[in-house]
Amino acid sequence: MHELSIAHSLVELAMEAAENSGIKQVKALYLKLGALSGVVKEALEFSFDVVVQGTPLEGAKLIIEDVPVKVFCPDCQEARILPEPFPMRCPVCGTKTGQVLAGREMELYALEGGEENARDGVESSNCRNSSECSEEK
Ligand SMILES: [Zn+2]
Repeated sequence: MHELSIAHSLVELAMEAAENSGIKQVKALYLKLGALSGVVKEALEFSFDVVVQGTPLEGAKLIIEDVPVKVFCPDCQEARILPEPFPMRCPVCGTKTGQVLAGREMELYALEGGEENARDGVESSNCRNSSECSEEK
């Protein structure tokens, strides 16, 4: 399963990036995943959860943003976003095109740190008395 090795390199990449930007604890990883990347999103999410165990990133979430396929239509002379990766033709005029502009990428584009967790003693309840609180469900 090649998603497993992708997840591995993703974790390594994220640890390096976190170190470089001074993030002590990573809460979430944001990944762009193209429809033509050849990576199965669900498999990658699963692999990530496995691979991340026992690393400094344990507990971090992988948030995947799907990137649709974008092609250049030679007829319209315009970039078009395809609603489905296949067939690869312009959704406006129907011309076949092989000029893929986007959709092949797999890019870790952001990390979310968990610094705010260090703050405690945050008021979380405004209830005046406890019976009022417990009645709400
Ligand atoms: Zn077109």
